[in-house]
Amino acid sequence: MTAEPTFGLPDCAPPDAEHDPFWRSLSDGRLTLPFCRDCGRARWYLLPTCQQCGSEASALWRDLPGTGALYSWTRLPRPFVPADGPVVVGLVECDGAPGVRLVAPLAVTVPRIGMRLVLRPVRRDPHTLPVFESERSR
Ligand SMILES: [Zn+2]
Repeated sequence: MTAEPTFGLPDCAPPDAEHDPFWRSLSDGRLTLPFCRDCGRARWYLLPTCQQCGSEASALWRDLPGTGALYSWTRLPRPFVPADGPVVVGLVECDGAPGVRLVAPLAVTVPRIGMRLVLRPVRRDPHTLPVFESERSR
């Protein structure tokens, strides 16, 4: 008899203060990302300097529409977090933040590259995760 390996929750540290606006917006059902004060481009992931222009100015957080297009996806047969079955993870090109591709679980049965998606945050204590679903399911 073989036993299935067990998978628990990863040891997630609480979000750091710099990324707090991102996590707080998700818990409010919104998507907000940091933008450069100097060149205006999105700065995701947030680093001490802008990846585009090198500015060291603090980021300006802006709400996004919470919609986007599926750039790529994969199915994880053995997710690293507790789940009822395989987890589909996508790279979502976020509307309002050119160049940003957010890694997020998808609540989509049959993903298609380019399909339109909308944010549907899901509470998983202690955080709210950015999950996307098809715009058609709304
Ligand atoms: Zn910049």
